[in-house]
Amino acid sequence: MNRLKAIVTGGTRGIGKAIVEELVKRDSLKMDVAFIYNSSDEKANLLKNELQNSENSIMAIKADVSSFDQTQEAVGKILAEFGTIDVLVNNAGITRDNLLLRMSEQDFDDVISANLKSVFNFTKAVLRPMIKNRSGRIINISSVVGIVGNPGQANYVASKAGVIGLTKSMAKELASRNIKVNAVAPGFINTDMTSKLNEDQQNALSSNIPLGRIGNAEDIAKVVAFLCSPDSDYITGQVIAVDGGLTM
Ligand code: NAP
Repeated sequence: MNRLKAIVTGGTRGIGKAIVEELVKRDSLKMDVAFIYNSSDEKANLLKNELQNSENSIMAIKADVSSFDQTQEAVGKILAEFGTIDVLVNNAGITRDNLLLRMSEQDFDDVISANLKSVFNFTKAVLRPMIKNRSGRIINISSVVGIVGNPGQANYVASKAGVIGLTKSMAKELASRNIKVNAVAPGFINTDMTSKLNEDQQNALSSNIPLGRIGNAEDIAKVVAFLCSPDSDYITGQVIAVDGGLTM
């Protein structure tokens, strides 16, 4: 049987890395994965070497997800090697937090480009092979703040709410081609993105989470794996909050 081919953006750290590992290692999936990274060649090579074996194919591609041209070029390279794309996980994201009064235009634009336009960029690039196959899965990583809002994160929240809107429109547009598009909205997850908080702040946050703990990257990766698997065949256009009950 042919192995399924996946692209994961922002694959060398945090949630993206956990997703790459889950898609490659989970017995029921065992996918060939191309992951996109932006900064550290060393981290990318380390991960590629860790996962690569005689049975699979792992690609590490450097590209800025904000750039339409770079993303089309990256997907071109992946298609040349993999031949097709079955799964796209739009995970890469950044924060540039500030109160609106102090937020610069640059910080607004950068966050919208990295978090929202990137989803458009990659989806455009994989649509042709998915439509040709009459099959595909697209999973967009949003955030619970894109549902409930958050002070000091207007740019980030707008981008993540935009991802939810894009997910639903794409799901409606592509359902007839058997392409399923869903979003995962993580709550507070322990990664570099959230490591700036001190212990007191983390404890205060945990006390508001019904399940009583901050999430880890694997909590998100398992839900993404489910959305890539036949077990989720009848799910599209949904936003699944993975937040320990924070936003219920
Ligand atoms: P992270 O640890 O900061 O990692 C971010 C990843 O995105 C890195 O792999 C980074 O690549 C990549 N990236 C950023 N800008 C990029 C660009 N322009 N081009 C290519 N790659 C780029 O973040 P995380 O916590 O794992 O978050 C992953 C996703 O989950 C993000 O979309 C985030 O918004 C979302 N999320 C996170 C939380 C949380 O609590 N952590 C909560 C809700 C939603 P390099 O390392 O190569 O720069």
